[in-house]
Amino acid sequence: MAKITAEYIWIDGQKPTAKLRSKTKIIDPAKSLADIPEWGYDGSSTEQATGHFSDLLLRPVKMVPDPLHREGDLLVLCEVLMPDGTVHPSNTRAFLRQVAERYKEQEAWFGIEQEYTFFDGNRPLGWPDHGFPAPQGGYYCGVGADEVFGRDVVEAHADACMRAGIHIVGTNAEVMPGQWEFQVGAITAPDIADELWLARWLLYRIGEEFGISATLYPKPVKGDWNGAGAHTNFSTKAMRAEGGIKVIEEAMKKLERRHDEHIKVYGAHNEERLTGLHETAPIHAFRYGVSDRGASVRIPMATTKEGRGYFEDRRPAASRADRAAPRWGLLASWSFSSRSSQFPMTSRSTVIPSKRRWRSSCRSSSSWPASWPSRASSRCCTRRR
Ligand code: ADP
Ligand code: MN
Ligand code: MN
Ligand code: MN
Repeated sequence: MAKITAEYIWIDGQKPTAKLRSKTKIIDPAKSLADIPEWGYDGSSTEQATGHFSDLLLRPVKMVPDPLHREGDLLVLCEVLMPDGTVHPSNTRAFLRQVAERYKEQEAWFGIEQEYTFFDGNRPLGWPDHGFPAPQGGYYCGVGADEVFGRDVVEAHADACMRAGIHIVGTNAEVMPGQWEFQVGAITAPDIADELWLARWLLYRIGEEFGISATLYPKPVKGDWNGAGAHTNFSTKAMRAEGGIKVIEEAMKKLERRHDEHIKVYGAHNEERLTGLHETAPIHAFRYGVSDRGASVRIPMATTKEGRGYFEDRRPAASRADRAAPRWGLLASWSFSSRSSQFPMTSRSTVIPSKRRWRSSCRSSSSWPASWPSRASSRCCTRRR
């Protein structure tokens, strides 16, 4: 029986923002999680252990089809455990499992809008070699090579997520050129967190094929440019039912009381983003409003009109690391990662390190999904500016 590849994916112990890691195991075909063996790795290389006691355990907790390889190949998301099987301190998913179980009867749904920024070497994708692009205004949901940069990667990513069975529900170009968003959900926890992490892994991995990296840093370019968030849309069964708006309003009071506590887990460097400008509320003030994109929490117009629905917490950074569990329900996700690359804006740009990789990745491959742009196409090999 032909073997398959299983890409074991886990979250490391980097602070303040954890990072994704993965390695490949060649195993017999697997029908369910029970067929996928536990595995180990060197925790001293991922800031999760010291050199003397470095072995950590990977326990498979979710498997999906690997959309980039052969049929039967898998992506396997893992929890990190100590060698004796107890939960590793960096493993916040174990905590989330408990919270999700405790508040199960609330039937909480989460829909997360993951914003991110493409980088080509040391500058945002599509930015000129010198100076800045035209000011923001025309880029959001734009079309055309002068406004939109990286759509081929975005489409390949959405396609891969769909093949993997991730509940991706949309994508759009964002306000800053080179910045994009995809949305996952609405689904329950811990599925939302699992799927978001897998979608992030796919984004980075597919970026490799195009020689482009993605960052979740919440304010990749200082100044008059939008930051990147992870708006979290949330509802419970009671909020979605007749008269649910009252439950939402009660939730607003509870969120306000715990504002500081939540900000602490909504991602590192979020203060650079939550300034009160660029469709954000200042980091130290809690305010909610109907249809208000300058508020901490927005209640969509449709929710107000219908008297029931959901609300949007606009505070989490794209790199959110929250696992807060307000008592009224659950607003929990396990830690969310980012690459903390920061755009070093210098007057003269020098390097384009991705060029060679870009070329080498343009080889066509038989396993490359047929619906994707050919890696041998001239478009892929031509750097667009
Ligand atoms: P925005 O107008 O803020 O850009 P988006 O369309 O990007 O909104 O994202 C809206 C998100 O809200 C989607 O992920 C969607 O699945 C989610 N959502 C819709 N209804 C609910 C609900 N009842 N509970 C939780 N999330 C929801
Ligand atoms: Mn959105
Ligand atoms: Mn957005
Ligand atoms: Mn939003």
